[in-house]
Amino acid sequence: MKLVFERSVKGRKNDFIPKLEVEETVLPDKFSRKQELRLPEISQVDMSRHYTELADNSFGVNNGFYPLGSCTMKYNPKINDEMTQLPGFSQIHPMQPIETAQGSMKIYHLAEELLAEITGMDAMTFQPAAGAQGELTGIMLIKAYHENNQDFKRNKIIVPDSAHGTNPATASMVNYDTINIPSKENGRVDLDKLREVVGDDTAGLMLTNPSTVGLFEHDIIEITKIIHDAGGLCYYDGANLNAIMGTVRPGDMGFDVVHLNIHKTFSTPHGGGGPGAGPIGCKEFLKPYLPNYHVIEKDGQLVFDTPEKSIGQVKTFYGHFAVVLRAVTYILFLGKEGIPQASQTAVLNANYMREQLKDNFEMAYEGPCMHEFVMSLDTLKKETGVTALDVSKALLDNGMHPPTMYFPDVVKEALMLEPTETESKETLDKVIRVFKQIHEQAYKNPQLIKDAPSQTLIGRVDETTAARNPILTYQF
Ligand SMILES: *Cc1c(COP(=O)(O)O)cnc(C)c1O
Repeated sequence: MKLVFERSVKGRKNDFIPKLEVEETVLPDKFSRKQELRLPEISQVDMSRHYTELADNSFGVNNGFYPLGSCTMKYNPKINDEMTQLPGFSQIHPMQPIETAQGSMKIYHLAEELLAEITGMDAMTFQPAAGAQGELTGIMLIKAYHENNQDFKRNKIIVPDSAHGTNPATASMVNYDTINIPSKENGRVDLDKLREVVGDDTAGLMLTNPSTVGLFEHDIIEITKIIHDAGGLCYYDGANLNAIMGTVRPGDMGFDVVHLNIHKTFSTPHGGGGPGAGPIGCKEFLKPYLPNYHVIEKDGQLVFDTPEKSIGQVKTFYGHFAVVLRAVTYILFLGKEGIPQASQTAVLNANYMREQLKDNFEMAYEGPCMHEFVMSLDTLKKETGVTALDVSKALLDNGMHPPTMYFPDVVKEALMLEPTETESKETLDKVIRVFKQIHEQAYKNPQLIKDAPSQTLIGRVDETTAARNPILTYQF
């Protein structure tokens, strides 16, 4: 398709830029642009067609099945967006007097109450912009706590190998050494290994539960006890909360800090770097370290507070308000019954697919799984030459988004599927049929799968060049 610059015709005008309503002023010379601004000149209808074409060539949850494991690509109810469009919420400004924004402050206050209840924590901050920044903030709290206790020798964070890649990255951002511990055969944390590595230099543990291979840690209470006995703190990567919300709580498992990916579990459209929110929750004793802009009630009014030993600010202003508002809408809409039901359906859907596919595809771990499962296509590759990448490309021809590929890297030729709770049995059955057909085809005519996709706008892209040598600007 043509870029908007290629559709541009010199002198073509449109009328969708509103008339100037204020007095015109001229910028001081030092601020004014030295080169002409090259904006596309385009009529309204061509502009509209351009964006429609872009939308038609995109794929999202509204187009079809999107089982991207670890990403929780669920359908996001439209009412969430309707709430964010209410003028009282959409027309506010971060600098306006606090007494004129009490409705929005109430949303933060309510979000804290609801999410603290769901996670079993005592306080929350909404400043972090996404999950990874939530991790960073959470580990900064842990560090501030140890330093406040003059406990400077604690310089190690333990991270199991089934963790999300952001966990070890976070630990090193905060200047901790990462101790990686391998999983047992059954995909769970090896307690003996854990006992071997803990000590008086352990600052904490970062654990994803269910782990990124879709398994719940059976020994979770023992794990957090081992860390606490050694004087460390426990951090819970709650990005996979979609499997457990309303059923079990990180706070009850012994965790001190947790981050949530509310753009995953609590339904905000995400992907492509779109806005997210990675609020963190903590236990009472860590509350004094929270970032500023913590909402509290004072003299009958909701105001922002800077906790006593605050680690400071991790983002401008208060975080992504609209994402928090969507989460509050989602929680209130589902209610006390709906929240656990959503999780339980997500787990049921994953187990249904897993059971239906296990005779054809080798499962990486013994079942049952939580909200996602991992298969290994290593045998298929050895017998037919068809790889996890080839199968993913073939799925594109069937109108679905591929699952997460080659992750977690502890599984060879991995495909990780997370169907989520919003898919119907009919959709799951159709997808299961497609997977089985591709499997059959791989043995009969592997070249067909290796040549896929044939129905998409472009076929196989040169991924190495795209990653190493991307051209991201338009060359006039
Ligand atoms: C998605 C995810 C993250 C990172 O979240 P972002 O919002 O992408 O920064 C961290 N941990 C786990 C387990 C995740 O699935």
